[in-house]
Amino acid sequence: MQIKCNVLDRQFQMYQQEYEEAALRVLRSGWYVLGNEVARFEEEFAAYTGRKYCVGLNSGLDALVMSVRALGIGAGDEVLVQSNTYIATVIGITENGATPVFVEPDEYFNIDAERLEAAITDKTKAIMVTHLYGQASNMDKIVDIADRHGLPVLEDCAQSHGARFHGKMTGTFGISGCFSFYPTKNLGAFGDAGAVVTDDEVFAEQIRMMRNYGSRERYHNEIEGMNSRLDELQAALLRVKLTHLDALNEERRVLADRYDRGISNSKIIKPQIREEADSIYHQYVIRCAERDALSWYLAENDIQTQIHYPIPPHLAQCYQQLGGKKGDYPIAEQYANEVLSLPIYTGMTEAEQAYVIEKVNAF
Ligand SMILES: *Cc1c(COP(=O)(O)O)cnc(C)c1O
Repeated sequence: MQIKCNVLDRQFQMYQQEYEEAALRVLRSGWYVLGNEVARFEEEFAAYTGRKYCVGLNSGLDALVMSVRALGIGAGDEVLVQSNTYIATVIGITENGATPVFVEPDEYFNIDAERLEAAITDKTKAIMVTHLYGQASNMDKIVDIADRHGLPVLEDCAQSHGARFHGKMTGTFGISGCFSFYPTKNLGAFGDAGAVVTDDEVFAEQIRMMRNYGSRERYHNEIEGMNSRLDELQAALLRVKLTHLDALNEERRVLADRYDRGISNSKIIKPQIREEADSIYHQYVIRCAERDALSWYLAENDIQTQIHYPIPPHLAQCYQQLGGKKGDYPIAEQYANEVLSLPIYTGMTEAEQAYVIEKVNAF
């Protein structure tokens, strides 16, 4: 049996008729960028998350870059960010000329709230939190620390659409919830797309202007903006998928539960979920000291796996000028050497999963 790490067309086939109708509606409408579909999606996604405003954008990275910019954060400012996040979270900071200050993760792969306060300096301007792999970060503690220091919280929700902490949706704890709708995400489009959600009217208006060359009124450019407009086609397709998001997340929880119950290899540490949090299992990430041997063994058995992520940002080639060295963030480095994402996707069959479990246990 051949198992890929991701199979995207199964979820398309599940809702094929709805997707095709939505796509044709846009193609026939004669309006393709920032129109009715985008406006409706923004309303619907704001309502889903429970926030007042949603601004549709081109990508998750844009949501991060623009959120940092809208807070006026730039050169000389520091932003706290976890040391094991995806590079895009960090680019959201450095693209504005600000300096990322890395904070090690906890055993749930999220920023360790216990280490946060020690990293705050008089240059710290924000705390950036990534709800990595689909699990909410320790938001009670993080928000408490942020409030005591008067710091805004930005949430990278690219992997946490619908994930909650104490029943409260990720993306609603800070000023800005930054979402990516890249095709592999739990709420994935059929191309690039992203959004910011917020309750702050002025902040929403800044992002809205920024995405369209800094203008509210056409050709009246109030700020130096960019082009991060959301397509009608993606918005229409996202509207379809949003109506199924809870069911799709639930399916992943069932898949994760089967992995939890089925995997019994003592060499493997299964993902742990914080009591107050749930996970939408964007990824099912195990740890194994012999990770590379395990991934080779699975590959030999035709099972694809992925590593999220093999190189922590402080060791990335693009950030050499920040002066990060091996040993600076030992937990992030250990995770980079030990994590392995097992296949988990919409429409994964019991037989496919049983095969993965069998081989993982046989390693
Ligand atoms: C996917 C992802 C992003 C970037 O989203 P794009 O839409 O690809 O720009 C940012 N942060 C995290 C954690 C991600 O997984």
